[in-house]
Amino acid sequence: MNALNLLMSQIRKVIFDNFNDVDTRFNNDQVLELLKRDEAFDQTITIDDLESQFVKIEDDGLVRCIAQNFTTKWFKLYEKMEQLNCSSCNGVVFLGNDESKICYNDECGATL
Ligand SMILES: [Zn+2]
Repeated sequence: MNALNLLMSQIRKVIFDNFNDVDTRFNNDQVLELLKRDEAFDQTITIDDLESQFVKIEDDGLVRCIAQNFTTKWFKLYEKMEQLNCSSCNGVVFLGNDESKICYNDECGATL
């Protein structure tokens, strides 16, 4: 799994574990803070490093940006997320209920 792909699954897991509610507002700073509670997480990662990942989950239809204040972006989920197991790569994926059911783990891309 490459670094960007790992980051994507870590971000999605944090959102699933902490903000899996369509009425909850959350922001990128909160996500990064939660990621950094895991000592195994690369502590040098900054909010700028996450920017392309947040663009991706907006494009994928997981979240929408509802407000922005400098580098802080506020989001809401379109739909609740679910945890799925991919039988092709044995990976765990976290997808919004109306997202395409496609495994985002590196070099997998199986339809779930
Ligand atoms: Zn897979």
